[in-house]
Amino acid sequence: MNGMFGIWGHPKAAEITYYGLHAMQHRGQDGAGMVVSNGERLKLHKDVGLVNDVFKRVNFPDFEGHAAIGHIRNATQDDGVFENVQPLVFRSLKGSTAIAHNGKIMNAEKIRSSLESGGSIFQTTSDTEVLAHLMKKNNGDTTTEEAIIAALGELVGAYAFIILTEDKMFVALDPHGIRPLSLGRLGDAYVVASETCAFNIVGATFEREILPGEMLTISDEGVKSTRFSLREPRKLCAMEYVYFSRPDSDLNLVNVHSARKRMGIELAKEHPVPNADVVTGVPDSSISAAIGYAEQCGLPYEMGVLKNRYINRTFIQPSQELREQGVKMKLSPVKGVVEGKSVVMIDDSIVRGTTVRRIVRLLKEAGAKEVHVRISSPRIENPCYYGIDMSTRKELIAANYSNDEIKNIIEADSVEFLSIEGTERAIVKDKTINQGVCAACFTGNYPIIENDHRKEFYRKYRVD
Ligand code: AMP
Repeated sequence: MNGMFGIWGHPKAAEITYYGLHAMQHRGQDGAGMVVSNGERLKLHKDVGLVNDVFKRVNFPDFEGHAAIGHIRNATQDDGVFENVQPLVFRSLKGSTAIAHNGKIMNAEKIRSSLESGGSIFQTTSDTEVLAHLMKKNNGDTTTEEAIIAALGELVGAYAFIILTEDKMFVALDPHGIRPLSLGRLGDAYVVASETCAFNIVGATFEREILPGEMLTISDEGVKSTRFSLREPRKLCAMEYVYFSRPDSDLNLVNVHSARKRMGIELAKEHPVPNADVVTGVPDSSISAAIGYAEQCGLPYEMGVLKNRYINRTFIQPSQELREQGVKMKLSPVKGVVEGKSVVMIDDSIVRGTTVRRIVRLLKEAGAKEVHVRISSPRIENPCYYGIDMSTRKELIAANYSNDEIKNIIEADSVEFLSIEGTERAIVKDKTINQGVCAACFTGNYPIIENDHRKEFYRKYRVD
């Protein structure tokens, strides 16, 4: 889970990129960076930390240029080391290339070890770097565009890229479109962002989604679309709707708040709580679902839990011990709302179970008579291989325990999850625009497997 922003054809490209990144801060807090092109050279600024801190001392007039790309990092593989903060910049005699990536290249290790045995030296431990090496390998007499297409043909995984050279910007999405990526306009300029909330902040208008297996080449000549692989039905990550994205973003033309609210409505239909007094949610990601649940049951929605906004997402802490501490600092109960009441507590998901256990305890300590946990997504029983930070079955509470066991572990009076069908109904509002989501973490049906036989097929089937 990372955030990306790109802009082409605007005199204030760097400043706009800063605001675009800031709007997507929720997608990662481990590092941020941007690269600006003035047509002749690329200039990079990046660091570990939050967008505000990273760009605090940047004087934007020094970052003059008509094009820029930016990245926000959520470290899943390391503790957030500087060299892995993106964009990554590679210099060669032919010019410079900056790469921003959101996703996970599943065969990166394999590619890397074969390139290393051929003499390549890697600067980072990021899977993103393999793209640069593959581009270089394929960039004999070819154009950058052809080199990127050839390089993408070697990748297996879920990926979204924004690539900047001195004179062009390239935007690419994997053949299943697992990660979000949209195109917008800001006057005559083109903008690209992981989430449309970034368009709203900078005053851009949404143009369209990048299609699965599509690459855009953006230059002074305008936008050119190339299909670099067979286009599979879109499988946008369901967790984007459940948790990651901001409620004011539209993903694949479906508004995130509305999808979450529908999840809450479906959840209330499937798992009502008899004799409950009040419905509450965990700020911010489960509020929309809690509103939907309350509306459907005819119960009052109240703020039973308060969030301290100045604590980073608990998940980003590296160890379990720190994660527990993080939850304590972040959330407090509202006694007046829950005391003596039978409370329905809605959360958007349970991964390890740390957050929900802590919240149940907080509500009980504040005097709640009963706490019934309702989760507005299905049981996460399967690891994600596509870039979401839940990569082993061992850490997933639902992969190891039944609902009844989870109820006891988290000390709740009951716990129920939204069904897979209910989740899909809530998200896939219109089949013609949204052919489906990747729900592999719930179902175990993975749309991409690493030694995918279709890879060869993609290459042969390439249509420009
Ligand atoms: P846990 O304590 O591990 O069960 O964390 C679950 C909570 O973290 C949920 O309430 C979500 O709001 C949030 N969450 C869910 N999935 C993720 C993820 N992959 N990365 C970060 N936070 C997550």
